[in-house]
Amino acid sequence: MNRFYRIEGLPEALYFSLLADTFEKLERITARTQMLLYLVELFKKTPPSIIDKVVYILQGKLWPDWKGLPELGVGEKLLIKAASMATHVSEHHMENLAKRVGDIGRAIELVKMEKKKASSSAIGLLAFMKTPTKTGGLTVEKVYNTLTRVAMAQGEGSRDIKLKLLAGLLAEAEPREAKYIARFVEGRLRLGIGDATIMEALAIVFAGSAAMRSVVERAYNMRADLGMIAKMAAEKGIEALKGVKPEVGIPLRPMLAERLSDPEEILRKLGGNALVEYKYDGERAQIHKKGDRIWIFSRRMENITHMYPDVVKMAIDGLKAVEAIVEGEIVAIDPETGELRPFQVLMRRRRKHDIHSAMEEIPVAVYLFDAIYVDGEDLTLKPLPYRHEKLKEITKESDNWRLAKGIIATKPEELERFFLEAVEAGAEGVMAKAMHDMSIYQAGSRGWLWIKYKRDYKSEMSDTVDLVVIGAFYGKGRRGGKYGTLLMAAYDPETDTFKSVCKVGSGFTDEDLDKLQDMLSPYKRASKPARVESNLKPDVWIEPVLVAEIIGAELTLSPVHTCCFNWASKGAGISIRFPRFIRWRPDKSPEDATTTKELYEMYKRQLRRIAE
Ligand code: ATP
Repeated sequence: MNRFYRIEGLPEALYFSLLADTFEKLERITARTQMLLYLVELFKKTPPSIIDKVVYILQGKLWPDWKGLPELGVGEKLLIKAASMATHVSEHHMENLAKRVGDIGRAIELVKMEKKKASSSAIGLLAFMKTPTKTGGLTVEKVYNTLTRVAMAQGEGSRDIKLKLLAGLLAEAEPREAKYIARFVEGRLRLGIGDATIMEALAIVFAGSAAMRSVVERAYNMRADLGMIAKMAAEKGIEALKGVKPEVGIPLRPMLAERLSDPEEILRKLGGNALVEYKYDGERAQIHKKGDRIWIFSRRMENITHMYPDVVKMAIDGLKAVEAIVEGEIVAIDPETGELRPFQVLMRRRRKHDIHSAMEEIPVAVYLFDAIYVDGEDLTLKPLPYRHEKLKEITKESDNWRLAKGIIATKPEELERFFLEAVEAGAEGVMAKAMHDMSIYQAGSRGWLWIKYKRDYKSEMSDTVDLVVIGAFYGKGRRGGKYGTLLMAAYDPETDTFKSVCKVGSGFTDEDLDKLQDMLSPYKRASKPARVESNLKPDVWIEPVLVAEIIGAELTLSPVHTCCFNWASKGAGISIRFPRFIRWRPDKSPEDATTTKELYEMYKRQLRRIAE
């Protein structure tokens, strides 16, 4: 193993220049396989004790979002100020240069290079000729710790502390290092590295084969902290990952459903009978309890506890276990009638700053549907009826805290009747769940143990899909100069790539279109992002980050789009005819988008429907 970058006398440290090297290489590549190779190279050289920090930095963060720790809290202005202090040029100059070259990171790199050149020629020093990787003094640890202190500086006087720390760090950094530190601070560093690719690289390094990604993935599903998982693999070996269990306070990755719209087929798939529950149209909540302490994690595993003080209280009063992890849906309800209100109403509450008035204006109810862990017992490998029994046992129901409404269905007519009832009551449809011996809680995966049957959004396509923006085209006429159409992609978890499905230009209100420029601007890329596969070249490439719900007339074969290419027909992919934008899905990450496999299944079902 090459330990070149390890520091003499400091075997547990790693030069930051190695990370900068990797970022530079990653910036230039266009294929995911190259990305994997560079990550493998990096992990091989990383000492186990700091691999967690390296993984977080690769994820573009200092710690997992769910920790609810403060963010860096450094806006553009402060970063420019720090960059100018570090380089002794005016803020005005730095700002203009950043505008010209595209970002503050590149601007500070250029200024530092200039200064370095000037001083080396003036003094005639040859030091400049040395490669930074051999001389670089900054370690990953130092960068990470300084940025942590920047984030932790809170309250009065914190702006000055943040400024000093950051300026000091940027001053010490080599030009290229400063570029990536600034980009990290700006939130632009992620470079499209998917978690799946990081996991594959970890599997190659610590288990000797990409095929072992499933072991890493299982552990990550149980504890959504990739840094912690990487460290465990590096320090204790891949075997240790096999024994990872859920832990209160650390979110699990949620179990997800497949979709169907034929009750008969649903029951057949589930083995003849099913627990069928309302599919509430709200926000998924994974609720953790330890004594009087409650955590609420979102579908994307962010810590949203502070947004729902009312739910915290409900959980303290309504969970009889000392320690528990349960799941439910938080739904907005009409305070007068107790009736369910749509998702958009709940999102309105999310946007309000004054939580207490929001709580009064938009009250919520929680409908519980699963128990994952109760008082020392890991329930993930127990069948659904057992988990459900446990959930019942520990739940003290009240008006706004109750079990999801459900029935056990054995006949398609029963399922259909319940579905219609659910839709009429304001739910999105139903969730049908397997009850057999193998009906475990499959954290982090979308499988056939849960099937969603959603109401038709009044179109020929029987369901909406969630696609990721990968590019934008400028509009014409009235919308000239502004984005008018978006290139959308589905996610392929096998290859951890995004494959183009359609261009969507309708369904946007004028207001939606006006906001597009600002929404997309942080994710603009000069060339095709490495994880994107598309034959179409948009006017502007967009890093796959934003997810939108799309509906269309039907699924069609397309020679242009790369989604499911050659699957249904040789030389063709699958696309959507007359796609229309419905809404943004900020609660979904790009990896939560509809998968290529799901689109293929939907296409096959459509063919069957036509044949009938
Ligand atoms: P969608 O976009 O349809 O909400 P999703 O990708 O967020 O789907 P799926 O697993 O496909 O997630 O669908 C199940 C979602 O439905 C859950 O994430 C959860 O938020 C919500 N839900 C509402 N009621 C239930 C229920 N009774 N059981 C499970 N999930 C439910």
